[in-house]
Amino acid sequence: MTLVYLGLGSNIENRETYLQKALASLAELPRTRLLAQSAVYETAAWGKTDQSDFLNMVCQLETDLSPQELLRSCQNIESRLGRVRHEHWGPRTIDIDILFYGHEIIDEEKLRVPHPYLQNRAFVLVPLSDIAESFIHPLLKKSAADLLKETDQSGVKRFKD
Ligand code: AMP
Repeated sequence: MTLVYLGLGSNIENRETYLQKALASLAELPRTRLLAQSAVYETAAWGKTDQSDFLNMVCQLETDLSPQELLRSCQNIESRLGRVRHEHWGPRTIDIDILFYGHEIIDEEKLRVPHPYLQNRAFVLVPLSDIAESFIHPLLKKSAADLLKETDQSGVKRFKD
């Protein structure tokens, strides 16, 4: 079993429902258990700013799926939940990124782990620190909490309490 962290984001229609449906689908994956989930945060849209704000969260799984099987499973969930790819950085019902797969380092065309941008994204680091503040990034050798300290968190707000 490997401990895995996934980042989830949604910014159209019923954002909270999409996050909940994605979590339920992840919990039902074979050879996989959902162990923890962060709070939900609201983040001003990033990259392209003329779109709705995102809801973001992070979850922790334990799985026997390989990294490639997990990526395929996440992509299946994205398409089942109706994600339509119109434009890069455009609106999406649900986006699921593999942030960490244990401490493995994967550098393939279709799969890079640790996720290459996570250290620049407060909307990932804030929820990640909820459930994994002492997890050490295997390339940067810094904890999630330390990476968060180096980021501007001002755009990330707790969504409901
Ligand atoms: P995006 O549109 O941002 O969701 O990017 C999806 C693409 O990123 C897919 O084609 C994946 O193969 C690729 N990708 C590379 N590394 C990862 C990762 N760690 N998690 C999810 N997708 C990844």
